Amino acid sequence: MNQQNLNFWETKPLEQMNQKEWESLCDGCGQCCLVRLQDEETDEIHSTSVACKLLNTKTGRCSDYQNRKQRVPGCLILRPLTDYIIRLLPDTCAYRLLAQGETLPDWHPLISGDSQSVIKAGISVAGNVISENHVHPDDLDQFVIE
Ligand code: SF4
Repeated sequence: MNQQNLNFWETKPLEQMNQKEWESLCDGCGQCCLVRLQDEETDEIHSTSVACKLLNTKTGRCSDYQNRKQRVPGCLILRPLTDYIIRLLPDTCAYRLLAQGETLPDWHPLISGDSQSVIKAGISVAGNVISENHVHPDDLDQFVIE
């Protein structure tokens, strides 16, 4: 395949992508929208099956993407993509994969052309998480994902 036939994510470094390209890399899995807990002794970070209050748990999509940072100050904003942020992202996340020099999986919507393929592949959190609106903060540790 010559350079002209390659997709933008195969030729452009992440930091050179325009905003539209950057946003299109997100497969909408919702995994980065899960509440994380940090172990006070080891500093280890654990993900839970409890989703941010803004996440629509049926679709796995943010219900107020434009205003997410104002409404949820702790929301993970990925750009600029630091090593710390990369470590918080799931192995399947396109930003993490590309930052590690890997390619996008077949189920990624940019490859499949189907926005639902992330759900069909079982990568999305849709239908598998509970909103933090329904969980008492003291009970969060019961939802840690091993
Ligand atoms: S984990 Fe990555 S691909 Fe999934 S919603 Fe977050 S930014 Fe998008």
